[in-house]
Amino acid sequence: MSKTILISGAAGFLGSHLCDRFVNEGYRVLGIDNFITGDKDNIQHLFNHHNFHLIDHDVTVHIDIEESIDYILHFASPASPIDYLKIPIQTLKVGSLGTHNLLGLAKAKQARILIASTSEIYGDPLVHPQSEDYYGNVNSIGPRGVYDEAKRFQEAITMAYQRFHGVETRIARIFNTYGPRMRLNDGRVIPAFMGQALRGEDLTVFGKGSQTRSFCYVDDLVNGIYKLLFSDYSLPVNLGNPDEITIIDFAHEILQLTNSDQKISFKPLPEGDPLKRQPDISLAKKELNWQPETSRAHGMKITYDYFKNLPTEKLHKTEHKDFSKHIKN
Ligand code: NAD
Ligand code: UDP
Repeated sequence: MSKTILISGAAGFLGSHLCDRFVNEGYRVLGIDNFITGDKDNIQHLFNHHNFHLIDHDVTVHIDIEESIDYILHFASPASPIDYLKIPIQTLKVGSLGTHNLLGLAKAKQARILIASTSEIYGDPLVHPQSEDYYGNVNSIGPRGVYDEAKRFQEAITMAYQRFHGVETRIARIFNTYGPRMRLNDGRVIPAFMGQALRGEDLTVFGKGSQTRSFCYVDDLVNGIYKLLFSDYSLPVNLGNPDEITIIDFAHEILQLTNSDQKISFKPLPEGDPLKRQPDISLAKKELNWQPETSRAHGMKITYDYFKNLPTEKLHKTEHKDFSKHIKN
């Protein structure tokens, strides 16, 4: 009998890659999603797979599953700053109520649960690089507070279920991850720059572009999640690629990769945009024997090939996704 894993956010960028990985490893995968920021196209290829089952459901509403479940990965949540600014209440609810429901399900099914936390819990960090013992610098009432505080609450309630109820929990603090299946119009820097380069538009760099990020290729992240889920380590672990770059240098790299002769246009830096971000992954190396293997040059080439081959209507759909029809409560 194969083991069963429930993956929330299955139709999203990371969730869909995790569904692939666990289906390929022989698990029965129950994917759950309400498609608010995800896309059915990301998992279309799994619909006829005998080990994949899709549940169309909002995880902030009570979740009823009859069959037994061995593992849960909670990845449902908007993740792009523009997405979570447009749906702030849904973001707070999926991080709080959604996490509560999935922890309750884990307790009832005696399943191990891994939750997707984020580098955003460090806010605009005063410590660099960020290690797990740093408590962060978050503005609870700033525009990004809806995401950051939802994720901090998520970590707190997860630790409470571990300590109070004895649920087996794992917490991944994920740093910026990229790859095929990101939504081209989600506003995150990689799809934004790729779309602009492919449409012949100028690349929009926010601020002076001196802020830094460290980008991890999706296959590396999926390996890290896999190792963390099956490890004995139950406190938060950073997963990301420490290869840090300024956004302006990154824009130039993309112009070179896409062989574009567009210019860079500068836009105001969004409020609360962290100025620096780089994971300290010593703990993941020690506890999981994990580190990223994919260079940015290689990962970006694969990602560019994916975006280049998208249908024209997706490439030219530049307005942000309309969320109104997905908001039911
Ligand atoms: P995504 O937007 O592509 O995927 C999120 C998925 O969750 C979507 O399919 C969406 O429809 C679904 N969803 C949202 N609310 C839901 C709800 N109430 N009920 C059911 N489904 C719901 O984002 P992603 O980049 O794949 O991120 C996935 C997770 O990883 C998120 O929890 C995010 O916070 C975390 N994370 C991602 C990154 C990254 O760089 N990609 C970094 C840090 C943390
Ligand atoms: N950014 C940018 N131009 C864009 C989109 C993003 O310069 O069109 C910058 C943004 O200000 C941030 C960085 O790129 O400093 C990464 O942004 P993203 O939205 O990908 O994720 P974040 O790490 O801020 O959550």
